[in-house]
Amino acid sequence: MKINIQNIGIQPLELDEEIRLDFISPLIREYYPNRAAVHVRVEKIKRDYRVYIRLKTQAHYTCDRCLDEFESDFDADLEQHFQQGRGELLDEEVIRIAEDSTEINLDPVIAEMMLLNHPQKLLCNDGCRGICPNCGAHLNHEECRCTEIHIDPRWEKLRRLLK
Ligand SMILES: [Zn+2]
Ligand SMILES: [Zn+2]
Repeated sequence: MKINIQNIGIQPLELDEEIRLDFISPLIREYYPNRAAVHVRVEKIKRDYRVYIRLKTQAHYTCDRCLDEFESDFDADLEQHFQQGRGELLDEEVIRIAEDSTEINLDPVIAEMMLLNHPQKLLCNDGCRGICPNCGAHLNHEECRCTEIHIDPRWEKLRRLLK
């Protein structure tokens, strides 16, 4: 997503766009197959551009516990400072753009923002009971049969004797 910075005056630039997230890191790309709604606001003060980005999309995740696929709202925002010109940058957080730039490419910033906001843990819901490691029962939908299967062998002997 590129924004034209040539005609920004005293009034901040506000724009809304629908974008595809095909440029984000391959590590997380599969989770964001839908288009994203992006709102951008750019304030210009001399050679400084303060860019506020808000992004919303419908994420497609796989639950870490039960392996079910589920949809989730993804909503993230970020502010990034760009500075036009040459010379040493005093602040590492600032991104330098060339003197003659007519636009700012927001793709790298959005890609970074997606990585930072991608959930560490993907759960279909907080109470997800997952899959039983013994019998493979999907515990959100069915009861585990392990108690029937795994009888203590000593009891099993006793049970046979009693028969
Ligand atoms: Zn789950
Ligand atoms: Zn089980």
